[in-house]
Amino acid sequence: MPTSEPDRVPGRRTAHFAVVDPATGETFDEAPDQQPDELDAVVDRAHRAWRGWRADPAARTCALYAAADAVESAGDDLARLLTREQGKPLAESSAEIARTAARLRYFAELAPRTRRITDGRPVHSEIRWRPLGPVAAIVPWNFPLQLAAAKFAPALAAGNTVVLKPSPFTPLATRLLGSVLAAALPEDVLTVVTGREPLGARLVSHPGIRHVTFTGSVPTGRAVAEAAAASLARVTLELGGNDAAVLLDDVEVDRIADRLFWAAFRNCGQVCMAVKRVYVPARLHAEVVEALAQRAKTVAVGAGLDPDTRLGPINNAPQLARVEQVVRQALAGGARAAAGGHRLDGPGYFFAPTILTDVPPDSAVVTEEQFGPVLPVLPYRSLDEAVAAANGTGFGLGGSVWGTDLDRAETVADRLECGTAWINHHAELSLAQPFAGIKNSGVGVAGGPWGLYGNLRPFVVHRPQEA
Ligand code: NAD
Repeated sequence: MPTSEPDRVPGRRTAHFAVVDPATGETFDEAPDQQPDELDAVVDRAHRAWRGWRADPAARTCALYAAADAVESAGDDLARLLTREQGKPLAESSAEIARTAARLRYFAELAPRTRRITDGRPVHSEIRWRPLGPVAAIVPWNFPLQLAAAKFAPALAAGNTVVLKPSPFTPLATRLLGSVLAAALPEDVLTVVTGREPLGARLVSHPGIRHVTFTGSVPTGRAVAEAAAASLARVTLELGGNDAAVLLDDVEVDRIADRLFWAAFRNCGQVCMAVKRVYVPARLHAEVVEALAQRAKTVAVGAGLDPDTRLGPINNAPQLARVEQVVRQALAGGARAAAGGHRLDGPGYFFAPTILTDVPPDSAVVTEEQFGPVLPVLPYRSLDEAVAAANGTGFGLGGSVWGTDLDRAETVADRLECGTAWINHHAELSLAQPFAGIKNSGVGVAGGPWGLYGNLRPFVVHRPQEA
């Protein structure tokens, strides 16, 4: 990774910021700290590249396939770098890169459909779809490459160009991805910019940007929506979640415990649609707590580069502090840690996988998004009470219902106020399905054809029918 390179503002050299390995807590590299005044040139180049890119759908398809191949060829380097800066086990990084390539191929195949509308009058309207222009894509640190691809693959397939800004906690794999993709895509069709705030704030309010697609926390999402209002750019927001899993009284605990555990703890719990609260019939509560605690106590926690590791560190020091704080607050309020409950000794941002019981329902670990390896398990007496609690936060990303009678489980799932409800699993998404949170969890729709149309505008030609 270059440590010092000339930037495009004449006469100035770009400063750099440190990138920390969360498994050690030590700086291991640095990334360019680009400044907001560099964005005019970046967006201008994205505009110029747009003219050629939007003109030839067949060439776009070929380029996106070539981009997917290039990502796979660089897979090992990308995976190691991703694990180094993000912390996740190497196998999960490799899976993230596979999903990045899969997204490029999926959207390479998609094309919008022209439709003709007649309504009895001697005219018809033809609806064609046009790209929007340069798109600003801003992503968080939990899945830097996969979430970036979820934005740039549909945007590029639709004929837009993209300026992509990763989180300052995870800029390096995205920079490498940018240079890998540059070999397959025309110049300036996808540009990666890295830097600390206010780089993102300036990007989303830039007058040359026509669509802001953002994934991150609710407070930042609000700030992004306000900033984008300056240029009235289209806004898509994929924000936080506080997904509940509701276990029914016919659930077979042994059969679902592994799946439920990993639905909460994958990527060290740093998943927008992880299970973040579990509601269990009072009769089964002790059994479920025991099954989850046994897994939390025995799962292999360590550096992501160690092949035995199943659970890595938390990505960054502020997030570790936040997890510690919500757990400490819950314990002070009367909760009990059936497993974990503390950070691990030694270097790095490690927190012991934690199962909490006797948790006051108004604790932050229940009402807010903890985004770490912590899971509160709460007993319920009636299904109505469980559904009301599951729906009782400001979030509405996903939810799940677990039981043996699938029809009954589906009836309960139908009552969840969220964008996706799963039965007997959680957080599994197909590339072809829409993904949209409600309430504070988001605005707009990503995924599948909906993701493509989210990057297009209708253009209507109205003409008389032939005589
Ligand atoms: P964050 O909101 O702090 O940062 C997200 C991105 O926004 C980063 O790139 C950051 O540098 C940038 N940013 C910060 N301030 C900005 C501003 N004023 N204007 C524009 N950009 C700005 O989120 P995070 O801590 O990096 O990520 C964790 C959050 O992301 C969690 O809440 C999680 O639920 C959410 N998330 C949601 C989804 C989803 O699809 N719904 C997926 C993954 C993560």
